[in-house]
Amino acid sequence: MEYKAPLRDLRFAYYELFDGASLAELPGYEEATPDLVESVLEEMGKIATEVLQPINSTGDEEGCTFKDGEVKTPEGFKEAYDLLREGGWIGLSCRPEYGGMGMPHTVSMMVSELLCASNLSFAMYIGLTNGAYTALDHHATDELKEKFVPKLTEGSWAGTMCLTEPQAGTDLGLVSTTAVPLGDGGFKINGSKIFVSAGEHDLTENIIHLILARLPDAPEGIKGISMFVVPKLREEEDGKLVPNGATCGSIEHKMGIKGSSTCVINFDDAIGYLVGEPNKGMRAMFTMMNAARLHVGVQGLALSDAAYQGAVQFARERLQGRALTGAKYPDQEADPIIVHPDVRRMLLSMRAFTEGARALTAWAALEIDHSEVSADPERRLEGDDLASLLTPVIKAFQTDLGFEMANLGMQVCGGYGYTHEYGMEQLVRDARITQIYEGTNGIQALDLVGRKLGAHFGRYLRRFFIAPAYKAFGRLQRATAWLAEQGMKNPEEAGAAASDYLHLFGYTAFAYLWAKTAKVAQEKLAAGASGDDAKFYEAKLHTARFYMQRMLPKSGALFGTIMTGRKPIMEFPEEAF
Ligand SMILES: Cc1cc2nc3c(=O)[nH]c(=O)nc-3n(C[C@H](O)[C@H](O)[C@H](O)COP(=O)(O)OP(=O)(O)OC[C@H]3O[C@@H](n4cnc5c(N)ncnc54)[C@H](O)[C@@H]3O)c2cc1C
Repeated sequence: MEYKAPLRDLRFAYYELFDGASLAELPGYEEATPDLVESVLEEMGKIATEVLQPINSTGDEEGCTFKDGEVKTPEGFKEAYDLLREGGWIGLSCRPEYGGMGMPHTVSMMVSELLCASNLSFAMYIGLTNGAYTALDHHATDELKEKFVPKLTEGSWAGTMCLTEPQAGTDLGLVSTTAVPLGDGGFKINGSKIFVSAGEHDLTENIIHLILARLPDAPEGIKGISMFVVPKLREEEDGKLVPNGATCGSIEHKMGIKGSSTCVINFDDAIGYLVGEPNKGMRAMFTMMNAARLHVGVQGLALSDAAYQGAVQFARERLQGRALTGAKYPDQEADPIIVHPDVRRMLLSMRAFTEGARALTAWAALEIDHSEVSADPERRLEGDDLASLLTPVIKAFQTDLGFEMANLGMQVCGGYGYTHEYGMEQLVRDARITQIYEGTNGIQALDLVGRKLGAHFGRYLRRFFIAPAYKAFGRLQRATAWLAEQGMKNPEEAGAAASDYLHLFGYTAFAYLWAKTAKVAQEKLAAGASGDDAKFYEAKLHTARFYMQRMLPKSGALFGTIMTGRKPIMEFPEEAF
């Protein structure tokens, strides 16, 4: 399997389907011109193919190892990390005043796709550092920023996100780690966090943990959670780094992303500093989580593309059977399996999903950049509206279908796909976690139904209106109205419908994007596109037709399911399970 960066399609999604060129008109992003972005992506594309993909399957075989409190990442990870650090990649979207390149989120989202498609485990280390950067940049005092942010930006220190405890997963109100003020601005942190991605490793000289804990006398539950920054090694006055009581107790042995360390981190009188206001830790953490959720959605898209590329290569080479209408390659012993309708169904599903997801991601990414830096307050609000609505859909729909598509990739490759050697089964295993972490997909669905739709009911939805997606849009509107009405009477109605509703939303959003894609492709062809460009736009039209005719009808079944209401689910007696 060889992964190639999808540069042409990225250019299409960001610059032809959406107005990516407008990024360079936003204050602070003047350098993000299409030419510069293209060269950034070309360079990362090379690193992805030549450096990161070759250590993907070896990293999976070797995994991380734990000894005496230290974690060793797989062979080649450290060298690859150093290469990226020296190239300034870790601080790609960090502010220039901290030493970053100051690129828009949009660019980091595209780069993230290439990183994740070539090596998801490796990409995790960079993703977590970026998450910690974002939380500190938004909420820390200037003093704390000065202490930690430049190091995170240059990548010599890495970051983590320590939320989960054995008894506190989805329900972070149950967090019991404590933080006691020392009187000098510091806090003594005690407790144990589990499932901490990149919690311990050998890629950087220090690791900065962003952690949720409780102050003495904090209110019960979610309203009593505060955020702290706790370094693994504390800097003494002479600049020496000394242990700070934040140590790794063990690592998990898990189904996928084996090259990414998943750690138990114990805090024993570790010294930390408050980030943001006391008892407002969830608000601070959400800044980090929203960006992280979009990046997890990108993981689903990335793995789907890697699987698609591998499946196409396989389907062209594997000779089995003859085309149903007679041999297509009579001089060969058999036809390549790409002639078979069922194989084509799978390949086209993967393609239509991947390209649709890339378009949806591009849309959200551009809206986020506008929401953060546009000079026009109306435009900022519009960007924020759309990005916050799309975030749970991108996270959950793109990872649910991303997993499904990786699975289809394996199916295309038959028995070879199931063996370790070909790489497909690793993609399936790696994709599975994306549906669970960063808020399970069920929780994303509740966020969409309970918070995002409730916030500005109807206002968001009008953006999806476009004639070819009319039927699906009509269903989405009816389901939305039904949910609003029923959910008000009984919250279990909303809870029972949430996951199907999120999928209905995803299919409808993709319909809108495929309609828009077809329109752009038709215009380009009518304007005289020729050669490779003409083939590219014609393929877009074919894929749009496939999506509308073969995938979008699923929205009908989802609509029917939603309308059955809570009873088939909730009337089953608990003791009968
Ligand atoms: C490989 C890996 C890496 C991770 N990395 C990190 C990390 O870096 N930092 C970190 O803090 N955590 C991390 N996590 C933890 C991860 O975010 C949690 O596993 C996840 O949030 C779910 O929590 P849980 O496992 O406790 O499941 P639970 O919360 O016990 O959920 C179990 C099931 O119940 C459902 N459920 C729970 N509550 C509700 C509800 N109110 N309504 C409807 N359904 C509900 C869930 O959707 C799920 O299907 C990681 C986990 C893994 C496996």
